[in-house]
Amino acid sequence: MGGGSSDPWFPDTVATVLVDKSGLLQAEQSGEPKQDFLEASPYYDMSNIPVNTYKAKTPFMGKVKSVKRIVGPEATGETCDIVIDHGGKMPYWEGQSYGVIPPGVKDNGKPNTVRLYSIASTRYGDDMTGNTGTLCVRRATYWCPELKADDPAKKGICSNFLCDAKAGDELKMTGPSGKVMLLPESAPETDIIMVATGTGIAPYRGFIRRLFTEKTPYGEDFKGVAWLFLGVANSDALLYDNEWQPILKAHPKNFRLDYALSREATNAKGGKMYIQDKVEEYADEVFERLEKGAHMYFCGLKGMMPGIQDMLKSVCEKKEIDRSEEHTSELQSL
Ligand code: NAP
Repeated sequence: MGGGSSDPWFPDTVATVLVDKSGLLQAEQSGEPKQDFLEASPYYDMSNIPVNTYKAKTPFMGKVKSVKRIVGPEATGETCDIVIDHGGKMPYWEGQSYGVIPPGVKDNGKPNTVRLYSIASTRYGDDMTGNTGTLCVRRATYWCPELKADDPAKKGICSNFLCDAKAGDELKMTGPSGKVMLLPESAPETDIIMVATGTGIAPYRGFIRRLFTEKTPYGEDFKGVAWLFLGVANSDALLYDNEWQPILKAHPKNFRLDYALSREATNAKGGKMYIQDKVEEYADEVFERLEKGAHMYFCGLKGMMPGIQDMLKSVCEKKEIDRSEEHTSELQSL
């Protein structure tokens, strides 16, 4: 098992992975053309993953291709899918992040600094040309209790810049960065358990598209179960559900999906249904899969982690096995 580390650019968030190996189910195949022009050789060879190709001092100038609101009217806040054209010059692997440097200066007069966003597409991009990357960004607003209104002076600079961008706009980019959230491609029998709150879904969209939507060599070899747990406020705030439903239909044995709608459902104790409560409903199975080698990823609000730790601990106690320290120390190394 291996640990991970939280992203320094998201001090309130967590992105990590628990490692193992297992899985029995057979991935489905199809006769469609292969998506393989950006594969390593062999495809799971990670020795040449691009890392920090562009740095803050010499950023890449990307071009916005599209900005689309992807949540319904009753969602809490606005979340956008933003496709960026990199002309094939800023390749990345699924699970990596791009940095964006918003224009303007900070209060101290110095230029704004880079913000990291997990890439929400595969290396091929949504148009499968290898020329684009997709970000999933929630517009950060600040509700001022005194004004009893949003205070525009305290809104998120970069998320608002991105959500307000128009096709053709240029943006300064860094990266790609990160090697923590990569897929275990050299062991395609490994189960993948993905836990997200809100826009923490971003890296998993890349994972799931690589596994099931695109005809990649990893997708062809995959024999495990990919299980997505997503927590959002309500049904209007669900992210990319239109993409998950056809995959569920086409791959019922290899893809599973569970939602925690915090403002529409309650947990067993009558409180908000948070993602840790949903994972807890499957505690035994999740634990067994981890024991057999599943990788478990977390991305989103750090607040979910204590619940996950407690859940693993209580399964250990129930099973009267002394593994809790092993599991919890993994989770604490974020
Ligand atoms: P959000 O909409 O604020 O929250 C998503 C869900 O999490 C809601 O149902 C919320 O419930 C629930 N939640 C709140 N506190 C929780 C807790 N303690 N435990 C479990 N669930 C809890 O999420 P978001 O604004 O999209 O933000 C998600 C986080 O992911 C952000 O911190 C973001 O920085 C991070 N992230 C983003 C990316 C990216 O590339 N975009 C990548 C990595 C991480 P209620 O609101 O009903 O309480």
